[in-house]
Amino acid sequence: MSKVALVIIDLQEDFLPPNGSFAVPHARQLIKPIIKLITEPSFTWSLIIASQDWHPSDHICFASQHNLPPFTETTFKHPCGEIDPDTHLVKTKKQMVLPDHCVEETFGSSLTVQLRLALEEKPGIPKEIVKKGSLPDRQYLSCFADVWGLHKTNMLEILYSNRITDVVFVGLAYDFCVLESAIDSAKNGLNTYVLKNYCRSLHPEKTNATDKKYKENGVKVIDDYSFMELF
Ligand SMILES: [Zn+2]
Repeated sequence: MSKVALVIIDLQEDFLPPNGSFAVPHARQLIKPIIKLITEPSFTWSLIIASQDWHPSDHICFASQHNLPPFTETTFKHPCGEIDPDTHLVKTKKQMVLPDHCVEETFGSSLTVQLRLALEEKPGIPKEIVKKGSLPDRQYLSCFADVWGLHKTNMLEILYSNRITDVVFVGLAYDFCVLESAIDSAKNGLNTYVLKNYCRSLHPEKTNATDKKYKENGVKVIDDYSFMELF
């Protein structure tokens, strides 16, 4: 029998317009429909997880730490100094620096209040918060691990201990943290779905390319109510 988890990625004030420091366009429209996914009795989730981006104020992904404008690409070194066997140099990744966001214990990093209340008020099923981004020297996108795959969060342990077979992702952003989280979920052998209409993108103009990345990595993109068949 399938056991289905709903995973809500990063529905936090800093990612929400109009005041979030790293707001995803139109993201506030998602709150009501996502709350409905939680509260509607016909969606019989076995587990609900909300991820929470959670950074120290000197986090390496912040533009302010590099004196660069947000969204400038720069080179990040492997946090443990691992050597590339081909070049004999420390491994690197090219990534964008980001607007400072989701600093731990600030309003910006808080889950939006409607989500917190809906989770508190939902009876009878396990609910978990998974924090990501706590180590200052590396970027995190997926709620499973940092971008180097070195520091794992408790995400997989929570899914396994609840014997989850299927994972349904919603939230922010479709082309960023939802994407990387869903890919990691599929890589870990879970049947993985993303509800496209319950996500918003940083770059909606590239949505076809994003859809392709999901599909190439074994994630089913759903844009209608066919996910009801999961229950
Ligand atoms: Zn972040």
